[in-house]
Order: sequence, then C-alpha cells, then structure tokens
Amino acid sequence: MVPVITLNDKTTIPQLGFGTYLVQPEETAAAVSSALEVGYRHIDTAQMYENEAGVGAAVAASGLPRDELYLTSKLSNAAHRPDDVRRTFGETLDRLRVDYLDLFLIHWPLPSRYDGDFVSTWKAMTELVADGRLRSAGVSNFEPGHLERIIGETGVAPAVNQIEAHPYFPNTAAREASLAHGIKVEAWGPLAQGAVLHDETIAKIAAAHGRAASQVVLRWHIQRGDIIFPKSMRPERMRENFALFDFVLTDREMATIDALDKGAIGRVGPNPGTFDWIPS
Ligand code: NAD
Repeated sequence: MVPVITLNDKTTIPQLGFGTYLVQPEETAAAVSSALEVGYRHIDTAQMYENEAGVGAAVAASGLPRDELYLTSKLSNAAHRPDDVRRTFGETLDRLRVDYLDLFLIHWPLPSRYDGDFVSTWKAMTELVADGRLRSAGVSNFEPGHLERIIGETGVAPAVNQIEAHPYFPNTAAREASLAHGIKVEAWGPLAQGAVLHDETIAKIAAAHGRAASQVVLRWHIQRGDIIFPKSMRPERMRENFALFDFVLTDREMATIDALDKGAIGRVGPNPGTFDWIPS
C-alpha cells in the first residue's frame, strides 16, 4: 500500500508515483499503461516532456475513475507570462483528457528571464486553484531565496517543491527551506538517474536486506518523508521500484546513506540559480 501525504492545502498525494522524463511521446501510452497495471496511481509529466497526450491516452484506456489517479504536470519555461500560464494549463488538461489537474508546478524559476519576475507566474498558478480546475499549485527547482520571494510577495506557499535530491546530492538547503515553510519535498532523479546504483555502500546495505540497490535508495527517500516517482521503461523495474513497503532501513543505514552526500558535484541536473533554457 502506497502511503499518502497531506499537503499544506489539505489535499493528499500518494508518496510514490511514476516519472516520465525522457519517455518518448510515442512510447508514453504503453509505459504509463504498464505502470498503471503494476499499481502506480500517481503520474508525473510536464509540458516540456511533450508526452502529456500519451499519459492522457493511458489514463483514458485504463478505465480507472479519475479520483483514483493523481496527475501532475509542469509549466513550460516558455510560458511564464500569466496569460500563457492560463492558456497552456488549458492545453495540458486537453492533452491529459481530464477536467481538473491534481498538481501543477512552475518547472524552473528562470531567475534571469522574464525580468526576474516569477512572482506574477506564481500568482497566475494560484488563480488556477481558485478557478477550480487545479487542486494544488506548486513549484520545482526553487532555491530558498526563490521561495522567500513568492511567499513574501503573495502570502501563498506552494504545496510542494520538486527538487533534485538523491544520496549524492540531497540538496539540503533547498529541502530544509521547503520543509521549514510547510512545503513538502518531491525528490526528482531519486536514483540520480542511475548514478547511485553502482555505489558500494548501497550495494552492502542492499545485500543485507536481500534487496536491489534501487529499492534501498528509494526506501531511503520514503523514510525521509519525501515524495518520489522513479522512471523506468521496463515493467520488471517498475514492479521493483513499487515494492518498497515490506522492509525498513535502520537509523544507522539511513545515516550511512546520508553520508554519501558529495555536495554540488553530486548534481545530475542543472543549477536552478543559473539555468535559463527556454524551448523554442
Ligand atoms: P531517476 O532517478 O528516476 O532514474 C531513472 C533511470 O534510472 C532510468 O532511466 C533507468 O535507467 C534507471 N532505473 C530506474 N529504475 C531502475 C531499477 N529498478 N534498476 C536499475 N535501474 C533503474 O531519474 P529521472 O527520471 O530523471 O527522475 C524521476 C522523475 O522525476 C522524472 O521521470 C520526472 O518525472 C521527474 N523529473 C523532474 C525534473 C524537474 O526539473 N522537475 C527533472 C528531472 C526529472
């Protein structure tokens, strides 16, 4: 049974879901259908992944009631202007074939774009909730200073901050700032996109439990209380990544994994303070 987490807006989210970054548009419906068959009920996509339509097709084909699914998408870096937030959110609903979305995130803060104004973007996101077509508004890749700005200027804290986090880069500053504001953390790249899977320390802990390295790392996230959605195209790995609730890491094992932190060099993704890519 996947635990649910209550967010600061009183909605609930399954702690474990399925990620779709780099899932090719034409392969998405099949991959998401497999994930739904395994039992995943929380799917993470984004406008920039260009695979929302495949997610929508799999959801429609599943016949699952809408309220048993938790769907997240993210605003394109090309759509930070408030009018574009509203317009592209409608397009996201159409592609997903749903009349409401559970969670919508500002994908990147882009502090050097749009005259540094991600606050009006954030206001437009919160208005979607007031409209009734969005349950929860959140952000992604927001650093402590970015969070302070949007909360200070609007009085509304995001429900989640989706940030890179894994044993090699636990992203402690952004994670702790989020939690201090009552914002739940979603850890993207929970397996460091595969980089932690050959770690000797992880391998030893995995052997002690008779588990895969991936399961140990994902279980570490679960015990930290973060929300995760590992990605795999292979059904057997989808099943492996879903089987996290019948073993427990000791405090000592948790601390041993905490100690694998490499600092900034452990990042697998861009630095949100400087990242400024906008799709054409
Ligand atoms: P991940 O850490 O989930 O790693 C995925 C890779 O790990 C896969 O390509 C696969 O090769 C390997 N893998 C997965 N399960 C495995 C297993 N059981 N055994 C062996 N190898 C396995 O990386 P990710 O996909 O980048 O992150 C997860 C999700 O987070 C994404 O799919 C996406 O939804 C989200 N994400 C968000 C952002 C953002 O900026 N907000 C950025 C990247 C990813």
